[in-house]
Amino acid sequence: MREVRVALLEADVALPVVKSFIKKAKAKAVGTEVLKSINPGQMVIKVVHDQLVETLGSESQELNLIAVPPVVYMMVGLQGSGKTTSTAKIAKYLTEKQNKKVMMASLDVRRPAAQEQLRVLGEQTGITTLPIVEGQQPVEIAKRALQSARLQGFDVVMLDTAGRLHVDEQLMVEMQAVHSESAPTETLLVVDSLTGQDAVNVAQQFKERVDVTGIVMTRIDGDGRGGAALSMREITGCPIKLLGTGEKLDELEVFHPDRIANRILGMGDVVSLVEKAAATIEKDEAEKLALKMQKGVFDLDDLASQLRQMMKMGGMGSLVGMLPGVGKMKKQLENANLDDKLLKRQLAMIESMTPKERRNPKLIAASRKKRIAAGSGMSVQDVNRLLKQHKQMADMMKKVKKLGNKGIARGGLQ
Ligand code: GDP
Ligand code: MG
Repeated sequence: MREVRVALLEADVALPVVKSFIKKAKAKAVGTEVLKSINPGQMVIKVVHDQLVETLGSESQELNLIAVPPVVYMMVGLQGSGKTTSTAKIAKYLTEKQNKKVMMASLDVRRPAAQEQLRVLGEQTGITTLPIVEGQQPVEIAKRALQSARLQGFDVVMLDTAGRLHVDEQLMVEMQAVHSESAPTETLLVVDSLTGQDAVNVAQQFKERVDVTGIVMTRIDGDGRGGAALSMREITGCPIKLLGTGEKLDELEVFHPDRIANRILGMGDVVSLVEKAAATIEKDEAEKLALKMQKGVFDLDDLASQLRQMMKMGGMGSLVGMLPGVGKMKKQLENANLDDKLLKRQLAMIESMTPKERRNPKLIAASRKKRIAAGSGMSVQDVNRLLKQHKQMADMMKKVKKLGNKGIARGGLQ
């Protein structure tokens, strides 16, 4: 933990965030089983890594495009944070990767050449920019952009607003006016990750005045280890959506919590080592089970070890979640929390049995069923259901044995 603390501080994570993080990781690590073939220190690193991913937001967050077109994206942030560059990067990304028709408009009337800067970027990328009209105020420009995008059938309008050197009242008022005029689907706060703790303070101030839907962290290419992302997420609670990784217009990355977690820890090897060890254990157990299956034996201990493995893998929800394109279904599964509860209940019942009963379920007569139900907080019907399920599985194993076909046994297990 001392090493982790140093790693986090070196990665420029804010001290209060480091403290609360270490506390949470400690609580998780104590009591965690150490897998064979790795040492406890390595196991701790894995726990810390998982905690990092969780803190950073377990899933990568996509840009929201679900709204009546033109979908409005408003970019906010301090001067020089990378708003204009990010506007062009996102517009390019949406055009090329998502096939959207995008218009960009500069609302920056403070800096003399700001509107011209966006126009040039538009020319470079072939993305339409709203024609510049001298003397218009930001709210008027926003109105004109929306109108023109609607008339010309654009999917997305990106509003690039003016920044200031520091958060000031005038900036906030102007930002709120544009926000209420354009009702953006995404209000993306652009922050310079090199400014570390300051970036987090700035984000807090913006968040108080406008509904920030996502954060774009720029200059990640300069920030060695990405610790600012951890503070940012923990303190503001806003999802980090994109990372700017350079000055070029294709240097934009979707935010992946696990990648940043590896960068912060700088211990990627250990994490994958532990993952490999975990996979080996599962293989060991699977092989043991396969042997038993070939003998036609499958007792309640075997069922319990299968249930435990499923729980270790995060239940059905996470298995389903690994398949592409089923994010929604996963949510529903999680909400229902069906699988996990079911697994836990089944295990509780098996754990309430004596070792003898587990090896020989036939012993479990009515009085024993009552005892098991009471011991696990379930009903006798539940115990019956479990036993029936087990019997079906055990019968299947016997059939497999009768067939005497090892190939089937193995195929079935897989
Ligand atoms: P704005 O004032 O917020 O609109 O900031 P700009 O978009 O004009 O960017 C200011 C400077 O930062 C420009 O020189 C950009 O090229 C540079 N910049 C923006 N994003 C990145 C990034 O992700 N990495 C690096 N290295 N430079 C960036
Ligand atoms: Mg700008």
